[in-house]
Amino acid sequence: MQRVFKGIKIVNGIAIGKIKLYKPAVYEINEELVSDIAAELEKFEAARLKVQEDQNALYEKEMAAGHKDTAGIFEAHAMMLDDEDLIDACKEVMAEGHSAEYAVRESFDAAAEMFSNMEDEYFKARSADVIDLKNSMLDILFEADTESLQGTEPAILVAEDLAPSETVKLDKSLLLGLVTRLGSSNSHTAILARSMNWPTLIQCPDISDDWDGKFAILDGYNSCIYIEPEQSVIDELSAKQQADIEKEAKLQELKGQPTVTKDGKKVRLYANIGGPKDIHAVIENDAEGVGLFRSEFVYLNSKTDPSEDVQFDAYKKVLEALAPRLVVIRTCDIGADKTIDYMDLDKEENPALGFRAVRICLTRKDFFKRQLRALLRASAYGNLGIMFPMIISLWEVQECKKILEECKKELEAEGFTIGKYEIGIMIETPAAALCADELAEEVDFFSLGTNDLTQYTCAIDRQSANLERFANTHHPALLRLIKETIEAGHRHNTWVGICGELGADPELNEKFLEWGIDELSVNPKSILPLRGRIRNTDLSKNKKTESPAPQAVEAKPEAKPAEEKPKGFFGRLFG
Ligand code: PEP
Ligand code: MG
Repeated sequence: MQRVFKGIKIVNGIAIGKIKLYKPAVYEINEELVSDIAAELEKFEAARLKVQEDQNALYEKEMAAGHKDTAGIFEAHAMMLDDEDLIDACKEVMAEGHSAEYAVRESFDAAAEMFSNMEDEYFKARSADVIDLKNSMLDILFEADTESLQGTEPAILVAEDLAPSETVKLDKSLLLGLVTRLGSSNSHTAILARSMNWPTLIQCPDISDDWDGKFAILDGYNSCIYIEPEQSVIDELSAKQQADIEKEAKLQELKGQPTVTKDGKKVRLYANIGGPKDIHAVIENDAEGVGLFRSEFVYLNSKTDPSEDVQFDAYKKVLEALAPRLVVIRTCDIGADKTIDYMDLDKEENPALGFRAVRICLTRKDFFKRQLRALLRASAYGNLGIMFPMIISLWEVQECKKILEECKKELEAEGFTIGKYEIGIMIETPAAALCADELAEEVDFFSLGTNDLTQYTCAIDRQSANLERFANTHHPALLRLIKETIEAGHRHNTWVGICGELGADPELNEKFLEWGIDELSVNPKSILPLRGRIRNTDLSKNKKTESPAPQAVEAKPEAKPAEEKPKGFFGRLFG
């Protein structure tokens, strides 16, 4: 009889097949004292070097596959195995007469517990890495056969949890999908599953041994797994899986194709990113550049104000990896919904209208100069665009440029090489949109930040889910500002892009193209679908009648379906 169990979806998609329960061996460790301490020390050292060698091999394998994120996990593991405190702790236990296996279990468990008791979420999560290494050490010491755990037939793998080194060792050709009882959405296994695009559920509490070998369907879209599904479910989800396969194959064909309409209008299709971790997504989705690197993530990911060198490293990494593509890095857009303790910002009544972005930068000049110096130094390694956010006045742009020039002179005097770069601003306030003619004289490009431009034009808090009835992301006032900004930019040879969410809106793509948009910068996952839509567009059909100015709407637009609700900052970025 069909049974359905819920979990938390990590990767969408459908997997259909038999279940294989993944059950690593539980080792019985002999607690009796041994007589040959030197032999135990030797065994331990051999196992340590073997596990380290394996971790280095996994690192190389992941790097070769272009998975820098996951490669980093194994690089860190290999380094952990050189940790003197951990090695000494094991040696001390063996010196008391215990076996190498006992010493590894005791010392690695103690280290894992120390990590798991830490407040900081990052260090807490390192506990799983130590346990992963302990298990790898024990596998070697017990000479375990780990190869056969996955079985020999393609299957949906069901496990209590999976450590990164277990996940990476899996034979991908036999893996249809993954379900775990434990795990978190930021666990390494989840990261790996995402990078491999396996349909995956975590935190599925109902996993039981009797699932082993049963026919099942993992439905990532609905975050559930069907054990022995009914025929109607099999038919429906098989059709969905087939449609997914065809859709994906069609999208893959768009890689390397130009982003051009049927009648020859070319547009640059760029990606929005949050830092070096997204380089892979840019390449994988064939983005032609980066239209928005939200540099505030470099600040949000740091416990203290990041130094010039820390910032330089992050910017250089992205520029170098993506050269010769243009990479537009937006200067720090902290404030409003993005707050940082070490910035020590006052609480405000209306943070979205308060001390944020360029307002902070122009007030805290040393803070701003650190970032500008890092950007200028990084400019030597690729094709850089520097973009200032939340501009409302001409003087702000002029002052930003003046400080940038000051930094450039200082760096040149210090002997640094500075590359070429473009300068742009975000048009995300009505003030900037309405003064676009004056502002365009100062910069090489505009990028329309439609998320904030909508909020400020319509006086609708972008964080609030209660204003759904009043929110209209296609409000004619907003569309008019966008159209006029594009026209103003072009009057002054300033190219104009969109980096807000509206850039990927299927209903507006054609309008933006008609209005002459030069660039669209969207979430990496939207790149190929958007390229497909643009290549299917024929603007010549609309040529006879000039595209009219957006009209005012009389009637209240219909409420949007629930999934279109504003999702907040992180939702929009990663959703
Ligand atoms: C915007 O406001 O449209 C934008 C792209 O910036 P953010 O979403 O980071 O505010
Ligand atoms: Mg914005």
